[in-house]
Amino acid sequence: MELADAAEQEARTISSRLTSSHKALRAAGRYAGGLVPFGYRKAPHPSGSGWSLAPDSETAALVGVIVADVHAGLSLIEIAPGLNEAGVPAPRDRHAQLQGRPMGGRRHGRDFERFRWTSGTLSKVLRSPSLMGHRTHGGQTVRDTSGAPVLIGEPLLSDEEFHALQEALLARSNGTRRPRRGTTALLTGIAHCAGCGGRMYFATRKGYVYGVYVCRATARGDVCPAPAAMRSDWLEAYTVNRFREATGMDAERSVSRSTLLESGVRVTVGKGRSGGGPSRLAGPDTSRLTFAFPHVHMGYGN
Ligand SMILES: [Zn+2]
Repeated sequence: MELADAAEQEARTISSRLTSSHKALRAAGRYAGGLVPFGYRKAPHPSGSGWSLAPDSETAALVGVIVADVHAGLSLIEIAPGLNEAGVPAPRDRHAQLQGRPMGGRRHGRDFERFRWTSGTLSKVLRSPSLMGHRTHGGQTVRDTSGAPVLIGEPLLSDEEFHALQEALLARSNGTRRPRRGTTALLTGIAHCAGCGGRMYFATRKGYVYGVYVCRATARGDVCPAPAAMRSDWLEAYTVNRFREATGMDAERSVSRSTLLESGVRVTVGKGRSGGGPSRLAGPDTSRLTFAFPHVHMGYGN
């Protein structure tokens, strides 16, 4: 009974929010050009002249997924690679797609076939009041003479949802939601098992000074046809060296997990054969390893 009441109340709230936003839209703001905020597309203004913004059926739902990831405790650095892997167009690319123009372009003096999501891109998207349908300028809500936000599209998030998101983002950047910071193994989210494609996780081994990265399919409740494992020191050295080669980054500078994640580095480890003899002690069997790097220029060279 109470639940039904709550659901009904919620439905009323949503419908009154939508009604009032439709009203406001009809009365007010037009989209005047510029980068269409992620999650939206251009749509004819309800008045019949000019443009407003409407939820983009291809990307609006993704905003909800990303917000859920933030509330689940994932950092933006962890969310960005997933979007790239899934082929989700970055805001500039989606904007180009919607305009019927090719994706990619020139940035920092280099040409890209398409742009990549980074924690910076995500931060801009998630902190923009355009998620509430507001017209923004310099990332801030534009207000009318009475102080009310100028709406140029239907809200993708309610005011409450947007503010809860800002709190979650703030909590993360203060580090208060990151109790395990500094203990996350270097290649978490970067090393993947060739057998199942899943992430590999760092584990210590009793009686060994070094740890291992292992396939954790069983922990996910999956069965991996060829679960991989590799010494952590070998896999880390291999990855860092390949990254330095690929970027021209000098050997003095340390490579952090966030740098690797931001750069879209992915290392895949195939299952080793058992046994193997003395060669197994010399270093990693690199024939088991695949290093993928999307060649985004990060400016690490000197
Ligand atoms: Zn596996």
